[in-house]
Amino acid sequence: MRIIVIIDGHIDVTFALQLQNREFSARSDIGHVDLPRMREGNVSAALFAVYPASSNFSISSGVDYWFKLVENPENSLMQIRNLDDFEKARQSDKIGAILHFEGAGGLDSEFVTLRNFHRLGLRSMGLSWSNMNQFATGIGTIEERGLTSEGKALVSEMQSLGILVDVSHLNEKSFWDVVEITGKPIIASHSNAYSICNHVRNLKDEQIQAIRDTNGTIGINLCTMFLDPQKREEDHITFELIKKHFDHIVEKAGINHISLGSDYDGATVPSILKDISYYPKLLEFLRNTYSRNDIDKIAYQNFLRVFKTTW
Ligand SMILES: [Zn+2]
Repeated sequence: MRIIVIIDGHIDVTFALQLQNREFSARSDIGHVDLPRMREGNVSAALFAVYPASSNFSISSGVDYWFKLVENPENSLMQIRNLDDFEKARQSDKIGAILHFEGAGGLDSEFVTLRNFHRLGLRSMGLSWSNMNQFATGIGTIEERGLTSEGKALVSEMQSLGILVDVSHLNEKSFWDVVEITGKPIIASHSNAYSICNHVRNLKDEQIQAIRDTNGTIGINLCTMFLDPQKREEDHITFELIKKHFDHIVEKAGINHISLGSDYDGATVPSILKDISYYPKLLEFLRNTYSRNDIDKIAYQNFLRVFKTTW
């Protein structure tokens, strides 16, 4: 029996639920992620993002909401803090939730709050969302700045605690600053190949190779804008186009550095993969060219390896 089926590197259900009138425990037609749809999609764990994470209050209130979601017994979720928890979640038929911050804005530069959030189980964090904060510069600004000296100290503090550094949303300068100082694998939890779709949120070939060189992984994002260079509506995105991103990253970095990072509940996604329950259709399509072993690497093994090395 296979222990883990899919680990999704980025879902925004925690934020979406705060805006939409629905319950995580009940199947809904609204949004992309809930318990029944995660089960149908064979998703056994995911990085559940706290977003926005741009101020002390937005992070704290997001974490409060996150724990309300995960602690509600009706939601059949279990917090993942270490590798053994994946097995415990499986045995108790729960879906694993990994605490992730999409941004670091508002954390103090002495890293007191960071250490406390690590004690609460924070295991992954983007240094900035698309904006700019005291640590890093996101792709949404025109600033030439990369990481600040506080940002560089943040990276080493995160890595000594065992918090994964996520470079999705960083501008190129910040990205290369991270690469220069990292001592552990890094992830781009939800980004695609720039060569296939030239959007600033996607990774250029040298960036893809740099992530490979840290032994990290890249989660393929299902946001239509990051998939389709022609920026067509969601009805026009094909599996062939999505597969091009997989093929390109595999060509540049190899099969050990590619994963899934859907952005479900945080993006407009293709109609053929309209919510998280559709994941098996994507894997089925990839199975036409990729081996069973390769699919396992994409679906969960690469993320597990990175967690193992980092946490
Ligand atoms: Zn994002």
